[in-house]
Amino acid sequence: MEFEVLARCHTTRARVSRMKLAHGVTMLPTFMPVATQAAIKGLTAQQVEALGITLILNNTYHLNLRPGTEVLKEAGGAHQFQGWRRNLLTDSGGFQLVSLNKFTKITEEGALFESPFTGEPTMLTPEESISIQHAIGSDIMMQLDDVGKFSHSLLHTLTTGPRVGEAMWRTIRWLDRCIEFHEKSGRSHQNLFAIVQGGIDSVLRDQCLNEMIKRKDRVAGYAIGGLSGGEEKDVFWRIIKQCADRLPADRPRYSMGIGFAEDLLVCVALGVDMADCVFPTRTARFGVALTFSGPINLRLGKHAADLQPIDGTCPCPTCSDGTSRAMLHHIITLETAGAHALTQHNIVFEARVMGGAREAIMNGNFPDYLKTFFANYFGDAGYPEWCVNALRSVGVDLLEDRPDTKVISGDGTVWEYSDRA
Ligand SMILES: [Zn+2]
Repeated sequence: MEFEVLARCHTTRARVSRMKLAHGVTMLPTFMPVATQAAIKGLTAQQVEALGITLILNNTYHLNLRPGTEVLKEAGGAHQFQGWRRNLLTDSGGFQLVSLNKFTKITEEGALFESPFTGEPTMLTPEESISIQHAIGSDIMMQLDDVGKFSHSLLHTLTTGPRVGEAMWRTIRWLDRCIEFHEKSGRSHQNLFAIVQGGIDSVLRDQCLNEMIKRKDRVAGYAIGGLSGGEEKDVFWRIIKQCADRLPADRPRYSMGIGFAEDLLVCVALGVDMADCVFPTRTARFGVALTFSGPINLRLGKHAADLQPIDGTCPCPTCSDGTSRAMLHHIITLETAGAHALTQHNIVFEARVMGGAREAIMNGNFPDYLKTFFANYFGDAGYPEWCVNALRSVGVDLLEDRPDTKVISGDGTVWEYSDRA
């Protein structure tokens, strides 16, 4: 991998970088759409490439189950299998194992689970995870990490307590095993990322950072894991900041599992370069179009006679063809073409949010970009307090020119992703 920082924001920790992988250049910061089953739901690989997307994510767990590594090897890797010519990142498969299989047991050796097809006990070790990712041929591979115990009743990972410390230290040991296995393979065109764990415990995070930074020469980049699992947003951003502040400047930083526009921009301001989430494509299938004026729920009856496009300034195929909100309302839950149209729009929206950030950082006006974005996106609905706090920590006061703006405390977003416009 070639990684070069091209510009830094004068105020925040945001930066623009050029990351060159075996399948071309990806400019950072970037948002990675998720193609769980080797396909972005609703789009062909050619459509995704035509939107200008240069890096997508595949799920190792799913690809290993189907089509399996034999077919992938026969095809020459997942790029050839799915007809994707640009860069590909794969997760380790560990998170899906723990979140989808109730009976997964984590041991020092690896994650023990029941095959969903045969019921046979199967072990995913760090070495096996890398071996599968070698068969996939992804440009960026994630280490197998111990994500801690998954609380199925609460649907989120545990973030404090002794199990989090145990998981963090095991993640470091597993990183060493992944590094060893990968280095022996000689597959230097594939790049291994470490995953910083430690839940929401800042002491554990620091210990993990100490250990992982020591291994800098043997990893191509770093992810910040163990978040986006239901922790308070005011805690979330502080952990992101702690990690991004300490991670080496000459390695890309990837915040896993975030996709709301405000989360993306806050993370970029804190120094994050990459993010992924199923959110924009999933919400599209539920009829929600993301726009710079906030999300629009096209299922609502009030759009039935609205002949304007989602966003007249959007370059996506849906908007530039002038497809009306009324038409999308008409088909969204009935015809798959509706989901395709909205998925293309939402992927382009995320790319525009990040592309706009890159341009603003290069031009030296990223703080203004943030202020304008928040004013347009949230307007009178009010700003999430955690965003205000997070951006103040890097020198941007969203309320400076808008002191009367409502500030909403609490978690998540002020959007229910139901409607506004
Ligand atoms: Zn559009």
